[in-house]
Amino acid sequence: MSDHRGHQYHVVDEHLAAAAHLHLTRLDHDGFVGEREGIGHHAVHQASSIDALLKGAYDGDLTLGELLEQGDLGLGTVQALDGELVVLDGECFQVTVDGTVHRPPRSMRTPFAVVCRFEAHVDEPLDGRHTLEAITERIDEVARDHAGDLGPAPILAVRIDGRFAEVDLRSVPRQTPPYPPLGDVVEHQHAWRAVAADPVGIAGTLVGFRFPPEAQGVEVAGYHLHFLSEDRTIGGHVTGADLLGGRLRLDGTTELHLEVPAGVVVADADTSEATAAVIRRVEGG
Ligand SMILES: [Zn+2]
Repeated sequence: MSDHRGHQYHVVDEHLAAAAHLHLTRLDHDGFVGEREGIGHHAVHQASSIDALLKGAYDGDLTLGELLEQGDLGLGTVQALDGELVVLDGECFQVTVDGTVHRPPRSMRTPFAVVCRFEAHVDEPLDGRHTLEAITERIDEVARDHAGDLGPAPILAVRIDGRFAEVDLRSVPRQTPPYPPLGDVVEHQHAWRAVAADPVGIAGTLVGFRFPPEAQGVEVAGYHLHFLSEDRTIGGHVTGADLLGGRLRLDGTTELHLEVPAGVVVADADTSEATAAVIRRVEGG
């Protein structure tokens, strides 16, 4: 199928639509970049798929500039898997394997990223101390309580601004072709713990998404969160946290628009336990 501009515009994956009320649209590069308000305004936009990334597809064809046209909040990685990507307030930040935070050029490409135009439908305090597990349990509760505000939203975008006693972070080293699968790369990942220097804590933001189990393979099912400190010096993929208190904002949608780079084959959602186990190991919190 193609739209009026002749771009590839597949609405596929009836399994996802039926099982999770999640509407997955696959677009080629021009179709994705050409989306303007009205067509994809409240969709979550994604470059490629986690499945392609697992197989070592670390060359994207979407630039960070093009990505930012479709969303102002999100996460992912950058070309050649050179660290973790955090998208916050319409700006991109790259956390390389040494833990330093960089401002990548808009011309840098990404092989995997997920963004949305964040509009909070839920905005409430997150009082008291929370581990990462407690944070995600609380988000589950809040999303249930606010089902009316969020609508039938299998995809949740999450933003938590707060103060943290500790954040456990991870980043990955830049790869050179021929690219090894992601499962091999994470053996060489760098994990570290950012610890607050004082009782006030590290001011910063958790950003990310909760995808339904049925989206496994296309996406990371469950929670996937990245962190960026307010002073933009600390960041990465989050595997643990000690939140002292903050503000929780949620945005929900049913629409996932996927940009599939030329030459990359994106499998249908893969809910097998084998794939789930690999993704847990690679992207687990
Ligand atoms: Zn991540």
